[in-house]
Amino acid sequence: NKRHSNNSVKSTCSYCGVGCGVVVTDLGDGKLALEGDKDHPSSKGMLCSKGMNLHYTVMDKSDRLMYPEMRFNRGMPLQRVSWDNALERTAAIFKTFIEKYGPDSVGFYVSGQCLTEEYYVINKLIKGFIGSNNIDTNSRLCMSSAVVGYKLTLGEDSVPVCYDDIELADCFFVTGANPAWCHPIIWRRVEAHKQANPDVKIIVVDPRKTQTASQADLHLQINPGTDITLYNAIGRILIEREWIDNEFIENHTNGFEAYKEIVFQRSVREAARICGVRETDIRWAAEYIRWSKGFLSMWTMGLNQSVVGVNKNIALIDLHLITGKIGKEGNGPFSLTGQPNAMGGREVGGLANMLPAHRDLLNPEHRNEVEVFWGGTKISDKSGFTATEMFDALADGRMKAIWIVCTNPLVSLPDIKRVEKGLENARFVVVQDISRRSDTLAYADVVLPAAGWLEKEGTMTNSERRITYLPKMLDAPGEALPDTEIINRFAEKMGFGEFFNYNSSSEVYDEHSKSTKGTNIDITALNYEILKEKRSVQWPFKRNNADFGTKRLFEDNQFFTADKRAKIHAIPDSNHSEELDADFPLILTTGRIRDQWHTMTKTGKVNKLNQHIDQPYLEIHPKDADSRKISEGQVVDVITRRGEARVKAKITTDIKQGVCFMPMHFGKILGSDFGRTNNLTNSLVDPRSKEPDFKFSAVEVKAH
Ligand code: SF4
Repeated sequence: NKRHSNNSVKSTCSYCGVGCGVVVTDLGDGKLALEGDKDHPSSKGMLCSKGMNLHYTVMDKSDRLMYPEMRFNRGMPLQRVSWDNALERTAAIFKTFIEKYGPDSVGFYVSGQCLTEEYYVINKLIKGFIGSNNIDTNSRLCMSSAVVGYKLTLGEDSVPVCYDDIELADCFFVTGANPAWCHPIIWRRVEAHKQANPDVKIIVVDPRKTQTASQADLHLQINPGTDITLYNAIGRILIEREWIDNEFIENHTNGFEAYKEIVFQRSVREAARICGVRETDIRWAAEYIRWSKGFLSMWTMGLNQSVVGVNKNIALIDLHLITGKIGKEGNGPFSLTGQPNAMGGREVGGLANMLPAHRDLLNPEHRNEVEVFWGGTKISDKSGFTATEMFDALADGRMKAIWIVCTNPLVSLPDIKRVEKGLENARFVVVQDISRRSDTLAYADVVLPAAGWLEKEGTMTNSERRITYLPKMLDAPGEALPDTEIINRFAEKMGFGEFFNYNSSSEVYDEHSKSTKGTNIDITALNYEILKEKRSVQWPFKRNNADFGTKRLFEDNQFFTADKRAKIHAIPDSNHSEELDADFPLILTTGRIRDQWHTMTKTGKVNKLNQHIDQPYLEIHPKDADSRKISEGQVVDVITRRGEARVKAKITTDIKQGVCFMPMHFGKILGSDFGRTNNLTNSLVDPRSKEPDFKFSAVEVKAH
């Protein structure tokens, strides 16, 4: 039933959380054309290099998984089997483990690139029918610190702002983020706004002089891990100079007095020394915030991927709460989502500690509501294993089987040798993916070929709470199936067929939307018909609501907490990252590069994208290089307490002395793991969000 020639559909880019609109045209003979969708409210026709080349990843089928495959023991090669064979064996093994070792012996590790409907059925299957909460996602590596930060301050995991606030803001506080490379279309809107309004101020906080930092009016090049010290110092200045909003604090918040006490414990001078920046620059930052009519803070992994990630988020949101710069046009905290549908995954509760519609797994009433709604088994009151815990549980035998969907943990998780150990020790590994390029395939006992972007329909939610419908345009190659259908078929083999008897993605979506009734993310009035007509809306969306949903939250100063008041927290500025010492004196931080996406299974196939940077490297400051007799381009060994990597050195003053940087994308190259960045990162996590400390590992660098 393939459609042919000059058949265009509107969809959404499947890379980052900006969620740009695209128009794809089927030119026939397997050829596609792609351009930006001028009518899409988030991106207005713009696309970055990754989005512009997205169709090539669909056209190139050379790496696609086409048929289910299976091996009977690890020594045997994978061989083609039927869907029935693959799913029957998987169901039999899952049932055996569940019976013998309990439901927590199995689990799913999924992805922020899954569609909302896919997330929904997997979450329902494991929590509502298998009886375990062992589902976590690579969003754990991405936004979980922001989620906890929002909950503790605003009462709900809710991004209060929208992209249109960009043009209404006049002070951008970009911290722990490089949107010029990682969220380029959002950044183009900031650039255009600044160009048209030169008085707009951009403050960038980053130990690296990134492209974003190079466009800043003020770059605070702080020492890694000192973010909270900086935010608290700015808070102190704002209070001292009486640049706070006393009326807002008095009427709409709790916790200000304790906050004041803690930020006054450290002088601004001392804070400047700890952060490694000039005191006057901290004062300038406070001044810019004070004068702004629209104060928009933007952040990503520099804050989230930290052992104190939740605290960093809260300390930043505190600045909005003491100044009352939230819930108003152009004002508010804006976490830039890393993945295209990390937010949709949270909406359906697809994490080890959540339930649908942002319900709390540990709340007995919430569990009961969902049990009744699903009509399945009793939901366990124990949080499931989170991303890193899952692989530890496989390593020590607490978990026996793992089902990995649409993600490549053997490149993306920290301290990768631990992940390898987990997969080696796992009794049964299912990999459900589109690509043979996934490193995780080496450990698969069963491989399930999935349909990719344009080959299935569903929805995603981008960084501004915007739900977009993605239509199916092409048939998947070979016998590949949409992920939702794979899970439904498996559920049937497990004996839960009547609860997973969906005829379409639309029916899954309708069930999900019903589950949001009466919650803060209510979308009960939203269905595929409305989404197809409007293309996208922002949650919450109710029939009596504005046509396109809710642009901005908290405009009435009523927060989602029990007493409707936001909570200002007193946050100590301690960091608990790995200790530096004489053997490991440098801090390694990791991040994205402009033209690659995550583990490169898609972007790595596109020649144009590989022309930017196609090899891993280490950025190091000239003084650190000199003292180690390292020259530009020389191969170096980067050594940690856990493992090593061997890459070329790039000597640059763009990085602070004492700090090094490596891109996070690279796994094994030609079978060797020498360039694999996550050989080096450590397994520490934030105690509340369980997000790893990717931005701070103790390393030494030696000329090879
Ligand atoms: Fe895709 Fe993100 Fe680029 Fe937009 S900014 S085109 S969503 S990768």
